[in-house]
Amino acid sequence: GVEFVGVSKVFGGHVAVNGINFHIPEGSFFSLLGPSGCGKSTTLRMLAGFEDPDQGEIWIGDQRADGVPAYRRPTNMVFQRWALFPHMTVHENVAFGPSVRGARGGELNRQVAEALELVGLGAYGARKPRQLSGGQMQRVALARALVNKPKVLLLDEPLGALDLKLRMQMQIELKRLQESVGATFVYVTHDQSEALTMSDNIAIMSEGSIHQIGSPHEVYDAPKTRFVATFLGNAN
Ligand code: ATP
Ligand code: MG
Repeated sequence: GVEFVGVSKVFGGHVAVNGINFHIPEGSFFSLLGPSGCGKSTTLRMLAGFEDPDQGEIWIGDQRADGVPAYRRPTNMVFQRWALFPHMTVHENVAFGPSVRGARGGELNRQVAEALELVGLGAYGARKPRQLSGGQMQRVALARALVNKPKVLLLDEPLGALDLKLRMQMQIELKRLQESVGATFVYVTHDQSEALTMSDNIAIMSEGSIHQIGSPHEVYDAPKTRFVATFLGNAN
């Protein structure tokens, strides 16, 4: 699993993340939920290795992760803006990472085909990004992250640019995908219903702190603070 122990991050005197603690069981779907600016992306970026904490420890499995460069961590990130290489085919986009790390020939093709199959794009390998819909592009971005077989997949508002109908469809697909690959998913969103639909556990953040961690049922039915109740829309 993943463990944050007293992790803080300060940007120029502003405390973005304030001594947070949480544990994510291995192979589960965990969401960081909270309003804009509360520190969700900063938390995810520290787990990825794009930022280092000013205080605290980050563990992935039995390995200390903070201080370890991003490319040596068993993590992979999917961004809201998927940034595919426009001149490359879908297949080449997905093959890029493994080929940089030395994969070649039939083994590389097999890995790419398997990743595209996972996201339902088995027949789209020869297309260019401009010949895809937004949802299909986001699936390619997912395949590109999954082809590395990360133990921990980090997703920062990956559905934010999609329309509501597609977003709801992708929520179901993402949850199914997480169950089928068995990786730990850490999902950042400010959308309450999204977090409640997909997660095994949710951490609700405000101003750099975690107010509550629990299953969707626990946080919705028994909010521990007024903020949680109000944010989840269940303030009675
Ligand atoms: P959103 O939902 O809008 O993406 P967020 O919860 O992801 O918000 P963060 O991006 O983690 O929020 O930012 C938390 C706080 O830290 C904000 O006040 C932000 O302005 C600040 N911050 C984030 N990154 C930096 C940076 N590189 N330099 C300075 N301040 C930063
Ligand atoms: Mg963010």
